[in-house]
Amino acid sequence: MPADNSNIKGSCIKSVCEFVKADAGEQKWQQIIEKLPALDRAAFFGVILPSKWYPIESYFNLLREIEKQIGGAARPDLGIEIGKKIIADGLNSFYRMMMGILNTSWILTKAPSLWKMYFDKETLTILHVSDGRLEVKIDTPLDPPKMYCCAVMGGILQALESSGGRQCRGQEVKCRANHEACCEYHLTWQMK
Ligand SMILES: [Zn+2]
Repeated sequence: MPADNSNIKGSCIKSVCEFVKADAGEQKWQQIIEKLPALDRAAFFGVILPSKWYPIESYFNLLREIEKQIGGAARPDLGIEIGKKIIADGLNSFYRMMMGILNTSWILTKAPSLWKMYFDKETLTILHVSDGRLEVKIDTPLDPPKMYCCAVMGGILQALESSGGRQCRGQEVKCRANHEACCEYHLTWQMK
């Protein structure tokens, strides 16, 4: 699939950078950056600006290199962990005051604006929402690495958990990485 000049917000890259440094060390982050194509390396070298937009293809390349250097079979939940870190950071700075009121109207009004904090063209569509159940899809014509999809899943799970959901579970039932037209996620939780 062709690139479509989609971008991702620097705050997301910054969280990924902090995750890798805390998980594997400063030196490992440098080793990951050094393996990236020159343009991506230049973008991620030095200070990452939270408010700046970065090319989503650069983010994909970063996740592929992270998967290669610290992921693999030994870390099947690495993408989920990364997504949780991204949203935990984002919610800390922005949405904390809205926590604890998880319900269908919260999701319908807050999820799209939360998503727009991170992506300029990637679109998240809510297919179904009811108490304890959410179905969403992302259908921009990009070809993401699986780690990206896992990070999205981790981010959604973190948002649900931070909002008061218990026993949050998620499954990606369709995936662009499997040559399907969209990535579709089904999530369930309980309120107790
Ligand atoms: Zn996917």
